[in-house]
Amino acid sequence: MAWRNPEPKKSYDVVIIGGGGHGLATAYYLAKNHGIRNVAVLEKSWIGGGNTGRNTTIIRSNYLLDANAHFYEWSLKLWHGLSQEINYNVMFSPRGVLNLAHTESQRDQYFQRGNRMLLNGIDAEWMTRQEIARHVPHLDCSDSPRFPILGGLLQRRGGTARHDAVAWGYARAASALGVDVIQNCEVQGLLQHNNRVVTLQTTRGPIGAGKVGIAVAGHTGKVAAMVNLKLPIESHVLQAFVSEPLKPILDTVVTYGAGHCYVSQSDKGEMVMGGDLDFHPSYAQKGNLPILQEAVSAALQMFPMLSRVRMLRHWGGIMDMTLDGSPIISKTPIDNLYLNGGWCYGGFKATPASGWVFAHTIAHDAPHDLNRAHGLERFETGRVLDDKGAGPTAHWH
Ligand SMILES: Cc1cc2nc3c(=O)[nH]c(=O)nc-3n(C[C@H](O)[C@H](O)[C@H](O)COP(=O)(O)OP(=O)(O)OC[C@H]3O[C@@H](n4cnc5c(N)ncnc54)[C@H](O)[C@@H]3O)c2cc1C
Repeated sequence: MAWRNPEPKKSYDVVIIGGGGHGLATAYYLAKNHGIRNVAVLEKSWIGGGNTGRNTTIIRSNYLLDANAHFYEWSLKLWHGLSQEINYNVMFSPRGVLNLAHTESQRDQYFQRGNRMLLNGIDAEWMTRQEIARHVPHLDCSDSPRFPILGGLLQRRGGTARHDAVAWGYARAASALGVDVIQNCEVQGLLQHNNRVVTLQTTRGPIGAGKVGIAVAGHTGKVAAMVNLKLPIESHVLQAFVSEPLKPILDTVVTYGAGHCYVSQSDKGEMVMGGDLDFHPSYAQKGNLPILQEAVSAALQMFPMLSRVRMLRHWGGIMDMTLDGSPIISKTPIDNLYLNGGWCYGGFKATPASGWVFAHTIAHDAPHDLNRAHGLERFETGRVLDDKGAGPTAHWH
């Protein structure tokens, strides 16, 4: 085993609920950055079996609003050194992320986003249709598609990584620093005393905790309900699809702007694709055909040469969607309970920075500068982080 397989102790200084990338990264940085090593990560099934192991692994920091831009840029910087930091090859591949624009208003929006990125010290490039045709030769850059490509916003330092390796790497590095990674341990209840969580009721017995962090993504609402905390989060299914393996044809990540589809090619050669959420709340962790059809038709508008490629498999994960589309990394009204969630469909790229700032928030009982704007109170004060410009309309995120 790459990490120890300990029996749970009676109590810990900090217990993190959820052994996805975020929970494991938090435990690692608690030990590494803050010297807090009496820590457990409790995972109800196997580590990385949630969204961490189900996502399309796109990593980028092309955000509009300063608070998100600085947070995700710090994450991208951590990705660039992550394999060395945790001594585990997470196969980070800065192959670039290209967002295609198909209308003039979309082009203007991308100009605005690109300029904001440059002002924040983040790399951004506008590519013309001709440059895109050279950069991604298999894209249909002609006038034939229903929505011809006008150009695109490229972030070269973005890319992809191997999702499982991120969970395994953080688990091994955290375990080596003394963190107990405990699998098959579901938290079923949180017992409180004097506005503090004192005991976690788990399938492996009661476990005491000085501080508790929630990092359970799509199950955030369920765990928060254990302490009667109502959150501005809805859980929705997001699906991904992979084709049969092909020879190398695509060495970047491309997103379709006239619909919702993103495509990259895995190291095994599979075309990896994703699309929209299922727009009804659900905890069904599985795929279905209507969204697949929608995403694939968008992929074919971009890459008609994929039309005879066979689909290999598809699956779903449960997204924790916030009302403004930005994450919550925060203290809660319960004194020693901290919340990491609301990652919507973009939390994989946040993993290193999320762990970094959540560990800080737990260790200091106060937010880090990078997550000061991501507190729960923003939904009361109205200072929401609406990066997409969709307002408090969950179904547009
Ligand atoms: C199809 C798909 C595509 C995506 N594509 C991208 C992408 O390209 N780029 C990107 O940045 N993000 C993407 N995401 C989002 C990203 O995967 C998530 O935001 C991120 O992985 C969340 O990580 P996490 O550690 O918070 O959650 P998870 O990895 O889901 O970990 C949470 C863990 O908590 C455990 N848990 C739940 N309840 C309990 C309990 N009661 N007790 C103990 N354990 C519990 C779960 O079993 C799970 O392992 C995508 C997601 C999906 C599903």
